[in-house]
Amino acid sequence: MIIHIDMDAFFASVEQMDDPDLRGKPVIVGGSSDRGVVSTCSYEARAFGVHSAMPMVVARRLCPQAIIVRGRYPRYSELSHAIMDALRDFSPLVEPASVDEAYVDATGLERLFGPLEELVAAIKARIEEVTGGLTCSVGAAPVKFLAKICSEVNKPDGVFILYPEDVDAFLCALPVGKIPGVGKRMVQSLQDLGIKTVGQLRRFSPEVMERRFGKWGAVLYERVHGRDSRKVETERAAKSESAECTFAQDTRDRTFLQRMLMAHAERVGASLRRHGYKGRTITLKVKFCDFKQITRSRTLEEPVNATETIFETGCRLLAELPLPQPVRLIGLGVSGFDAPANQLFLPGAGKAAGQNLDPQVEAKRQKLDAALDNLREKFGRQAVQRGRLFTLARQEDAPERVNNGKGDGVEKKPEKGGKPSP
Ligand SMILES: [Mg+2]
Repeated sequence: MIIHIDMDAFFASVEQMDDPDLRGKPVIVGGSSDRGVVSTCSYEARAFGVHSAMPMVVARRLCPQAIIVRGRYPRYSELSHAIMDALRDFSPLVEPASVDEAYVDATGLERLFGPLEELVAAIKARIEEVTGGLTCSVGAAPVKFLAKICSEVNKPDGVFILYPEDVDAFLCALPVGKIPGVGKRMVQSLQDLGIKTVGQLRRFSPEVMERRFGKWGAVLYERVHGRDSRKVETERAAKSESAECTFAQDTRDRTFLQRMLMAHAERVGASLRRHGYKGRTITLKVKFCDFKQITRSRTLEEPVNATETIFETGCRLLAELPLPQPVRLIGLGVSGFDAPANQLFLPGAGKAAGQNLDPQVEAKRQKLDAALDNLREKFGRQAVQRGRLFTLARQEDAPERVNNGKGDGVEKKPEKGGKPSP
């Protein structure tokens, strides 16, 4: 059996736990500007129809009395780590699926913790203890995707265990939209065919599913028959690290954009260093006011994690980029962590394709980064700023940081192809 643990309204619950004045009230965590989005909201806010990823403007209209809180992502991250550590006390097979979700492989744990019901109760109690009072919902099932569906069944603070003998009946009655990956559009197109439940979807052969939905159809066929071969993976190695932000106002101001790149380089670099990663490919992402998005990448000779090097490379990519329209969002990422030097180059092409790095400069930068990381660890992220950031920083207000609940504004994405999109 696999257990899926999902914290209840995580960010909002943390805010309510840390500030008693917020308890029992509609609380929304997210960017408060007109372009902000709801990251998480308390159950009191959900009663008004507010939900995650909803534009803040809409949320405010639905629930004008809501208290909007800017997220304290370092605090959420701290609690997330405490939760994951607590889970590892039960099983070495823990897979953090996001900041507030994890899978635990429960195989063989009954000898230590008794029946599954008791194990789940012990996990819930432990999480409440280590976080200082947060609740979670737990699902247990023979496979991963079912465990995830089950944790939703009795949310919040609920438990639902689906035993193997009950899987078929449970699945057949399940609305198709409950299967992870089946979105609104697919639900609609299936409904047009008269299909609402998984049981009805079972009438399709794998060939029909594939013809209709492509590769995903083959996966969906497995899911509707209760199959999911994915294991609980303890090491989900990060393949890229990136940061991005959407501005309160679209802009063509290159100095401002550079300043944003410096802030991103700082976050990405610090996160890479904290996890002991270095990457060779730096990717700049720009979204224009018409939502057209482009990315530009450069692969360096050596993997790096120095803030200044990431920043400089990002600036070069930006300098080469025409800005035909105002920019809405800028992002900066580092990837290519595992590739040994030169592997990505054709023989002899290394120097031409890469960008020369001065080892002395890099060494100096590493020293500076280490010193700054150290100071920030002790005194907080705002305690020290680079001269460069400071001189670039004074002109405008900080932009709205869009965060979709993935930690402290830094996203870690497992990449499909291993290479950033061109
Ligand atoms: Mg959650």
